[in-house]
Amino acid sequence: MRETPDPLQQHYRLQAAAVAHSGRPPSPGLLLPALLILGFDGTLREPADVHLKPNVAEVLARYPLRLTRHGSMTLAVGLPPGGALESGIEELCWKLLYEALRLRPSEVFFGLAEDPFPGPALSVWRGGAWTRLERVLERHRVRPEEALLVCAEADEASAAVRAGVPFMAAWDFFGWPDPPRPLAHAHRCDACQRYLTLRCQCLDRGRYVLCEGCEGGG
Ligand SMILES: [Zn+2]
Ligand SMILES: [Zn+2]
Repeated sequence: MRETPDPLQQHYRLQAAAVAHSGRPPSPGLLLPALLILGFDGTLREPADVHLKPNVAEVLARYPLRLTRHGSMTLAVGLPPGGALESGIEELCWKLLYEALRLRPSEVFFGLAEDPFPGPALSVWRGGAWTRLERVLERHRVRPEEALLVCAEADEASAAVRAGVPFMAAWDFFGWPDPPRPLAHAHRCDACQRYLTLRCQCLDRGRYVLCEGCEGGG
């Protein structure tokens, strides 16, 4: 199946590449998402690791986030559904978030209290995370196309597509060298369109693939 590039996703990809590699904020006047949604595993940390991935704080500092008082862009972080099983994952999420924003906890909370804008500046949620995407959009009062999901997991990308939210891979957003491009590509189930992987490097990106559910169910 051929990927048809969504023009908005394409725009965000080009913009993010410029931001990640130039070291400068997005060019003024260019369309930015109103809500930036970050995945956790593979985006803020490597799964099961306790450290922030490289370049995250540097890149986020270039965006006009409300939490850092640089603009009006709001932020959400979704913990993976299985995250409920990992002890201390909530504390770790907050720790990585403070580090990513280069803020102390008190700065975040006093900042939220003094925030002059209506509506939430930040959402953090866990458990069944990606089925709740619609609720996060509602909470932030944005339409799906006004949000951007930055993620590393196939399930996150599938949830974005279901909700109509543009998404891009964390390695593109943060300018990581891995996985090596331009070989990296995604595969989706040809029947249900679910993403099966985002970082395949096989030589047949148009390969016909079915997910386990579609293969078993016919
Ligand atoms: Zn399928
Ligand atoms: Zn492949």
